[in-house]
Amino acid sequence: MIYTFRNFKNVAFFAFGRGTFDRLDEILAPRRKGTDSYVVFLVDQVFESGGLRERIPLHEKDKLIWVSVEEEPTTRMVDLYRDEILSYADSLPDAVVGIGGGSVMDYAKAIALMLTNPGSSAEYQGLDLIKDPGVFKVCIPTLSGTGAEVSMTTVLLGPEKKLGIKCDYTMPDQVVLDPDLIEGAPREQRFYTGMDCYIHAMECLTGTWRNAYSDAFAEKSLALCREVFLGEGEDPREADEKLMIASYLGGMSVTYSQVGVCHALSYGLSFVLHTRHGLANCIAFNRLEDVYPDGVKEFHAMLERQGVVLPEGVTAGLSDEQLDLMVDTAFKLEHMWDHAFGKAWRDKVRPEWIRELFLRM
Ligand code: NAD
Ligand code: ZN
Repeated sequence: MIYTFRNFKNVAFFAFGRGTFDRLDEILAPRRKGTDSYVVFLVDQVFESGGLRERIPLHEKDKLIWVSVEEEPTTRMVDLYRDEILSYADSLPDAVVGIGGGSVMDYAKAIALMLTNPGSSAEYQGLDLIKDPGVFKVCIPTLSGTGAEVSMTTVLLGPEKKLGIKCDYTMPDQVVLDPDLIEGAPREQRFYTGMDCYIHAMECLTGTWRNAYSDAFAEKSLALCREVFLGEGEDPREADEKLMIASYLGGMSVTYSQVGVCHALSYGLSFVLHTRHGLANCIAFNRLEDVYPDGVKEFHAMLERQGVVLPEGVTAGLSDEQLDLMVDTAFKLEHMWDHAFGKAWRDKVRPEWIRELFLRM
């Protein structure tokens, strides 16, 4: 595609490198308005025990919230955390810092927005519905692949749909990428979330919205994923660095291009079965050999190299109603189908085909 006009926002500040997390106090200093003001830290509950807790640069008035991500972020929880913060002090926080995987980063982004936008976050699921920029947002990944640290969306499960609050204001203002933080992630989860990144690149590179700018990010992201998941004798510390950057570049690529068939199906799986995003993507991508033949072949090689076995039969036993809802959720993601197959996508993509694909998962 020849690139047509769009005016994108970017992350304003970007810190990268081992040990960067220990500079967080210094990074936040210019955002602190005075001794009476405060910063909110939202941290994945998994770090409640362990060394990271002591390294969070908490000031006296700061608020620390341990976030459970057993379930992917919901509009209900965003509203509850927002209310908790608003009742904590008379003023707004100077910044909201999210430390965790895509789930916690998305919570941080959504809560920072909802502190200054009235009503429920469910009312803002969609494009450009947010009116106020919200509070300064800081994203610090402890798991790499989603690209949430650099995306203009925060994906939420709402009462009616799984959909992002997508707009310029959702973009983080500051990102801190410290590869040490992803070191302890469980092996399988690291793979699933890493594959989210691989699939972002694959989908961006194969759709009709691709362009030289998004390709540049996707190609490098893909190359780094290959080194991490197919490389021989890769130094694990170097692999972590590469995966962090691959995730960031993958997120950039999605912004300037779009995700495709796998993500549309994955959203359907997550909405009905509450399957985590990375795993849902893997389950869906595994059955998309007709759409992404080279990608799926390579994905199988990565599964084998990493010794990961995917669950099978996840849609077996679903009622017709549940299956219909799954198909409907996927089918409604028109921008993804449009990117994958072009403006005439409805000629190719039938609900019956989507249903068949789900039944094979
Ligand atoms: P996640 O944040 O849901 O975390 C998965 C699991 O890993 C959790 O149990 C978590 O506690 C654990 N974990 C995270 N870091 C760890 C560490 N260092 N050590 C040990 N355990 C750790 O996983 P994810 O794949 O990063 O994020 C998925 C979420 O991101 C979904 O909600 C998805 O919708 C969202 N997402 C957002 C975007 C975006 O652009 N905003 C893009 C893709 C996905
Ligand atoms: Zn994704």
